[in-house]
Amino acid sequence: MDITTRLQLLEAVRRAEQADAAYTAAGRACTRATRAAVDAHTDIGRCEQQLTAAPARAQTRAAANALEAAQQTDVDCGRRKQAAKVKLRRAFTAARTANRELATLYAPHASGRATGGKRRSAVAASILDELAAMPLEMIRAADALVVHSSAGKDSLVMLHRLATWAAQAGCKDKVVVVHCDLGDTSEWPGVRELAQRQAERYGLRFVAIDSEGGLLGLVEKRGMFPDASRRLCTSTLKRDKANVLLTAIVAALGLDRQALIINCLGIRAAESTARSRKLPLSIDARTSNGKRLVLTWHPIFALSETEVWQDIAAEGLEYHPAYDALMPRLSCVFCVLAGFSVLVRAVRLCWALGLPLPEKYTDLEARIGHRFKEQYSLADVVTEAARIETAEGPLTWRPGDAIRDQLGEAAAADYLHRLALAA
Ligand code: SF4
Repeated sequence: MDITTRLQLLEAVRRAEQADAAYTAAGRACTRATRAAVDAHTDIGRCEQQLTAAPARAQTRAAANALEAAQQTDVDCGRRKQAAKVKLRRAFTAARTANRELATLYAPHASGRATGGKRRSAVAASILDELAAMPLEMIRAADALVVHSSAGKDSLVMLHRLATWAAQAGCKDKVVVVHCDLGDTSEWPGVRELAQRQAERYGLRFVAIDSEGGLLGLVEKRGMFPDASRRLCTSTLKRDKANVLLTAIVAALGLDRQALIINCLGIRAAESTARSRKLPLSIDARTSNGKRLVLTWHPIFALSETEVWQDIAAEGLEYHPAYDALMPRLSCVFCVLAGFSVLVRAVRLCWALGLPLPEKYTDLEARIGHRFKEQYSLADVVTEAARIETAEGPLTWRPGDAIRDQLGEAAAADYLHRLALAA
């Protein structure tokens, strides 16, 4: 099966899934409308009984008004039920057509039929697996590759791999490196500039998206901190903004056919259980539509943390100094997903760098009356950081400490030597 057929099949799977979801939603709407019509009938019966039994003239008028209102509701519900039935029939026809098209397209490539949820998802999974194993062909087939870079270590290694593949495929002009800038009240200093340098090292187009107010502004507006189950910060500050850019990229392509956009993220399975459940390559149903088929690609999904640092050391890639202070991730300074000890270290690093963020965040906590985390406040974190500083003194670090910590002294010395030569 060639890559064009694979991509056509993925689009057919997407359309079939979308049509099935629309059919399910229409079925639910129809059930709701039918229930409302039954309730309206019941109300009419009740009002009629009240009217018959009303002893006084004033009560008769009230019961008649109630009956009139119930009859009007009944008419409205009848209309709603009819409209819902029409929508359901249309959705059924659309779903049947989409599934038949998929089956017809897939038939020459398999003995079984590509209908039914399970079969369809199995077809998509095997095609996605095949595509993930052929990066150069996928890059050549794409109209644009949107590389989401936080400037952190995983983004850095992903970017290096993608830039290398794109150069081999002769497609560097298709790559756009996108950095969501949350501002200096959210992130460590120099993150945006570093993301830009990392992209420019490969001669790639770089776009920074400003997220006014960042995490601090979002918390101030909502009056509460996000948490793992309501991670509004990622969707509001990063994903929604990046989706706007996606629309602009597709419009700028000016194609008279559906565009293939590949969204690239530096997510690794080893980072967390939730991330291990993701796939190296998947269809982004939420942002795909008739104008664009969007695939989400995690090119370094299988790498361990050690392998990431090995790549950084071997290629002499520039990483952020926060890693040398042994911050495990280049996230927001006070990431709502970070553990207690990481937050304590972040407070100490702020003090070492002279950043006013611990006070800003604890002030905000006090002002909105909502704790940074359910189990503890940021004020507790600051108290613990102060206790450690009293016992151990201020936080110190040396250039290369991240690599020293992960790969040993020789690797750190070699890395620093490479950097010095490249400067
Ligand atoms: S780094 Fe943490 S706090 Fe910042 S946006 Fe992401 S999840 Fe939210």
